[in-house]
Amino acid sequence: MKSVIKYDLKTPVQFIKGIGPRRAEAFANRGINTVHELLYYFPFDYFDLTQVSEISSLRRITDTTKRISVVGSIRAIDIAGRPPRRKCVITLGDATGTISLVFFQNANYFKSAFQVGEMLAVSGKLNFFQNRPQFVHPRIDRLEVGEEDNLKGFLHTKGIIPKYSSGEDFRNLRITDTVFRKIMKEVVDNFVEQAEEFFPESFLKRLNLLPLPVALRNIHFPETVEYKNASRYRLKFDEWFCFQLLLAYRKMKTKIQTPGISFNVKSNLARKLVDSLHFKLTKAQIKVVKEIANDMSQPKQMNRLLQGDVGSGKTVVALIAMLIAIDNGYQVAFMAPTEILAEQHYKTLAQFLREVNVNTRLLIGGQRKRLRDDIIGDIREGRANIIVGTHALIQESVEFANLGFVVIDEQHRFGVDQRAELVRKGKESVNVHPDVLVMTATPIPRTLSLTVYGDLDVSIIDEMPKNRKQIKTMMLAEPESDQLYTMIRATVRKGQQVYIIYPLIEESEKVDLKAAVESYEMFRDAIFTDLKVGLIHGRMSSDEKDQVMEAFKAKQLHILVSTTVIEVGIDIPNATMMVIEHAERFGLSQLHQLRGRVGRGAEQSHCVLVVPDWLARITKRQTDNIEIFDSPNSNNINELERQKARLTDGQALTRIQTMLATNDGFRISEVDLKLRGAGDFFGTRQSGLPELHIANVLDDGPIITLARQEAFQLVADDPHLRNQEHQSLRKYFFEKLKTSLTYIDVG
Ligand code: ADP
Ligand code: MG
Repeated sequence: MKSVIKYDLKTPVQFIKGIGPRRAEAFANRGINTVHELLYYFPFDYFDLTQVSEISSLRRITDTTKRISVVGSIRAIDIAGRPPRRKCVITLGDATGTISLVFFQNANYFKSAFQVGEMLAVSGKLNFFQNRPQFVHPRIDRLEVGEEDNLKGFLHTKGIIPKYSSGEDFRNLRITDTVFRKIMKEVVDNFVEQAEEFFPESFLKRLNLLPLPVALRNIHFPETVEYKNASRYRLKFDEWFCFQLLLAYRKMKTKIQTPGISFNVKSNLARKLVDSLHFKLTKAQIKVVKEIANDMSQPKQMNRLLQGDVGSGKTVVALIAMLIAIDNGYQVAFMAPTEILAEQHYKTLAQFLREVNVNTRLLIGGQRKRLRDDIIGDIREGRANIIVGTHALIQESVEFANLGFVVIDEQHRFGVDQRAELVRKGKESVNVHPDVLVMTATPIPRTLSLTVYGDLDVSIIDEMPKNRKQIKTMMLAEPESDQLYTMIRATVRKGQQVYIIYPLIEESEKVDLKAAVESYEMFRDAIFTDLKVGLIHGRMSSDEKDQVMEAFKAKQLHILVSTTVIEVGIDIPNATMMVIEHAERFGLSQLHQLRGRVGRGAEQSHCVLVVPDWLARITKRQTDNIEIFDSPNSNNINELERQKARLTDGQALTRIQTMLATNDGFRISEVDLKLRGAGDFFGTRQSGLPELHIANVLDDGPIITLARQEAFQLVADDPHLRNQEHQSLRKYFFEKLKTSLTYIDVG
């Protein structure tokens, strides 16, 4: 430090020893301008050298469930065995002995990724092969060349060393890992005491939270693993607490301040619908109908999320609520994210409403002007009771007569703004806020609904209709197609129908479509010549698609070959077999949705995941001690790319395994989120998730729950944070609003 005392947390980083103007610029490119921001640039991981074992001691280890770490240099790298059992074996040695690191997957990658002489820190569970200990796919950290000395110090003290993500720009400025740590040490030593605590002491005590300066010191240079964890906990808590505080305010505002319509929930239309159903509502459906009706009867705006696995019967629940609104003289808008889905909902509603006199209209893009004008007229004059549509509903030209109830399907594909826009249209037409019901076909973990949908009340349909049998899922390797054809024939012989799905993604649309069409022709002309085979894909016109779907529904087709256009909304109980070709190319929730197209009737249904031979082999061979997601710490872009490819394979494997293991949509979405990350799953900005530094929606369940409880309690106790002991928090919170929480609609 050039001169310590005068500086504070707002000091620009170039005043720190080791940071000149050019390095300051590199930091600035990552949004780090001040000492404070540098303090909040947390390690993405640590080398935990507190548990490092000497290699010679591993022979004596009997517990193969515990993670073990060793540090050593690479003595040899070999490829052994023949395909498909080819493996890469790295021999790692320290002063006491050597051990093998074995890689079955991507052997070539591992051979080329490492070099003899490199220092590695390795950890994993031990595995004994011919009585010799070895690691199979362990976690690997590369230690920097020239860092041995530095590490020896740590090794000696068996410390925990932080790892900061750097990158090409940093390395060009010779900010190596070692240099980075030195800079951080400097900053922590000189500034951490200046970080001002914003929670009252009693609060810290009660929740067992570390004081802020202690947490900030130990997040960078933990004294022990316990301190590291406690620091992470405290800093994660801070982020969630602020976010939940914001949600608490938002919710308070809608709950208390937003007047809504007090619907009379005794509805003849709804009664008539329920009486016309050929099934009884499940207990779970009745429970959520009650929750919704109760909200609707209140003179406040309803903001409720309706969650339930695919096939749990959300549509009929939403429809009951819609009919209540219509009976009270209001219009209902039902917004879906895609045209196919909107059309599908429109048809489903029409089916349900055959015996109920309600005027339902469909508004989507690309309709002819005459028709469109007619629909818009019906909406404006109040002749349309239910308007199903895409975001075409929020165009300027659409004016509602009296929109009192809004249903939004698959909300996370819409921006928060689009929801607000439809609500605004309602408010314009009826002068109070319409009630809002958000439906999602993607079950999401509860903690995530507490964040993404944090300002909504949640109703969950946690029970499937009774007559359903669990869908049986199996995997077949491509070469096993004879077996597949036999199964298909057996299904058709029972009078049931079969879907065969092909992947189609934008990047390779042409090739994909060709593959689907060619397969269709092969089935029709060569394999199932005695059966009726149909084809449907997104490039066909609406009329063509309708014709094919109608034919399938009428059982005029035995087999329907399709691209993913039938992912959601299709409801044909007589179809009992879902074959997904190239299942490895589909996302997990997509697979789950596709599987949800069968199992809709009383018959036993099957889902067959067809995958390449190699994937089938690995899936069958997979053992617990191959850790797919542990990957070497990369230091160059090329390697990152290769890792990504490897990871993708690993992910495909995990997706298939998950599908084979469970039918539970909540569990599946949890895995999907882990694979894709919340940002990708929802699109961070769209969903209203804040930018998170250290918090992670997937890991922080209990912290989120606690932060939520505390934040909501605080707002209840001291709504304006006037209390003397809340002044620091108040200041901190508003500072945070100005920076990282700004884009969330506070108003
Ligand atoms: P979701 O929208 O939740 O995926 P749907 O509303 O499409 O589920 O319902 C799936 C199928 O189950 C539909 O054919 C629907 O008519 C039917 N269904 C809904 N509720 C019940 C019930 N209680 N008993 C039997 N079938 C039901
Ligand atoms: Mg209400």
